[in-house]
Formats: sequence, C-alpha cells, structure tokens
Amino acid sequence: MRVFFVFLGVLASLGWAQPRVGIEPGLTRLVFDLPAGATYRLSQSGQVLAIRFQGTPPRHLDTALNTPEVVGYQARPSPGGSTYTLHLRPQTTHRTLELSQPRRLVLEVRSPSAPSSQPRAPTPVVVLDPGHGGIDPGAVGHVHEHEVVLDVAKRTQKLLEARGIQVVLTRNANRHLSPDKATDLGLRAAMADSKRILFVSIHANAAEKAAQGIEVYYFGEAIDQRLLSKAIWENGGGALGERLTQEARTVAQRLMSDLLAQANLKFSEQLARATLQSLVRETGAVSRGVQTAPFYVIRNARIPAILVEIGFVNHPVEGRKLASEAYRARLARGLAGGIVAFLNNGQAQR
Ligand SMILES: [Zn+2]
Repeated sequence: MRVFFVFLGVLASLGWAQPRVGIEPGLTRLVFDLPAGATYRLSQSGQVLAIRFQGTPPRHLDTALNTPEVVGYQARPSPGGSTYTLHLRPQTTHRTLELSQPRRLVLEVRSPSAPSSQPRAPTPVVVLDPGHGGIDPGAVGHVHEHEVVLDVAKRTQKLLEARGIQVVLTRNANRHLSPDKATDLGLRAAMADSKRILFVSIHANAAEKAAQGIEVYYFGEAIDQRLLSKAIWENGGGALGERLTQEARTVAQRLMSDLLAQANLKFSEQLARATLQSLVRETGAVSRGVQTAPFYVIRNARIPAILVEIGFVNHPVEGRKLASEAYRARLARGLAGGIVAFLNNGQAQR
C-alpha cells in the first residue's frame, strides 16, 4: 500500500512540472500549470517575489535563468504545497494573469526600458521557410518539392495575415538564398531571431518504398537511422549533408545542459503537436507523428521552431494530391490552424 502511495506521489509531481519559461526582448515569462483546486498567493520583498502554492505537490528546485529580468528561482516544499522564490533584477516590473483550460498562472517580468504593463499591441511575426529553391529542387515526384512548399507557404501566409499575424517568408520565388548549402540554411535560420515569434520550415518527402503521410519535427537527436538519413538529405545530402548533420548533432548534445534551450524545445514540441493535429484534421492524411532530428536549419532557433514534411511527392495517390489546388488549400488551413492554436495557448499570450 505504501509503495502505491509513493507511486501516486511521483505521478502527481510529474504532472506539476517546473514552470515553462518564455523569453522576448524586455520580457521574461513563466507559466505555471495549476492543478484543479490549487491556490496561490504572491508577496514581494525587495527584489524577491514569493509565490506560495497550495494544493500542489512539494517541489525542490534551484534554477538559474540569467535573463535580463530574472536571475533565477528556487522552489521549496511548504505546508500543503510549494513556495517558489523568484529573484528579480532591479527596477523590473511584473504582472500576473490566470488562464483557464487548462488552468495556468502566467507571470510576466519586464525590463525598465520595456513598454509599460499596458497590454502591448499584438505584433507576432511568424517566419515561414519554404525549403529548397533555385539550384536545389528538393524531392522530385508528381510535383517538385521546391514548388509545392512555396505555394503552400504563400497560401498559409494569406490565412495568417487575414488574422492579423505578420508573416515573413525566407523566399517568395523559386530561388536559393546562397548557392552554398550551409550558407543558404544559415541565412534561413538567421530569420528565426528573437524579434520573430516562431519558425516553420516547410518540406515534402520522397521515399523509395511507397510511404505517405505528414510528419512534424522539432530539433533534437534522431531516434533511428531513417530519421538521421532524412536529416542528412534535408541538410544538403551527400558528404555536405553528413557534415552539417554532424554539426547539428553537436549542437543537440550541447543543448541538453542549456535550460533555456530546453524550455524553448518544449515550446517547439507543443507547436509541432498542434501543427500535426491541425494538418491531419484538415487533410485526412496519415499521421506519421512528431519526431526529433538534427535539422541544420532549426539548430540554433531561440524561438519555437519546427520542420514540417507535408507529404510524399512520389506516392501514387498523395503525390498527385500535392499537385492539386484543393489539397494545397487544405494543407495551408492545417498549418495556419496549428500555428494559431499554439499562439492562443498561452505561449504568446499578450
Ligand atoms: Zn526538403
């Protein structure tokens, strides 16, 4: 019986993980998931902000954030829950808001130079990266990858702009950004800077055996050889692709110990899941799941970043669908829907 209760306790504490951290210029945001019935109380003394949670599992954490607004935080068990002690930088201001479904407490800490605590005008800028182009056609089948991903990106751009979301395309014509693949991917990746809110690289697959469906990636190590081979192909193929993949894998290993990068990867995973779900709902395509792989173009992203494979250009059915206007419109609705769902889910709460 005792073992059973210990097990329940472990499950409960896993369900209440450490806060998710978001960073933008002039702003650090912490998001705490609130179990049903949990309460919290804030108190401040100088640069120390305490949040006492009740109805949550006890936590014991020491975390350095080192952002321009927050030095770090500690959590210690307190009666009925845990107390988080946040160490803020001088002259910062903060505000909290509670979100529902699921219930979350959002704490925003701002630098003195940042706009006041007035709600800011929403200016999220989404980067859409249609893969390949110019000297690099990408995968070839019933359609060319460079052409279908550009068309789908432009359609997605229109849908997002209609909702007030600004969009930047890494290319808007059949061209490369540089004849050198590493430079080309580097220039695309550079657009995922902190002034933007998220980055979506759009690609299409080809396979030797008849395969079909949609898969969405965020950055990380590949769990098997197939995913590693895919990363090598998208990273330029051949010896070059091998070299860039190896560089990306080195980054992946380094990120394991980088807390901020890990928080950003968590957001990337959420974006990947929201996007896949929306794409499959709109298109009825086979879901090939959310995976991680060392894609060079998303290796250093400081904002949520994913790579979407929208289908197989050489599949006898899916390849022909990818050539049709109607199916491309559905893919665009799926992509835009996933992005909007992610933005509405607290990460980009303004
Ligand atoms: Zn590609």
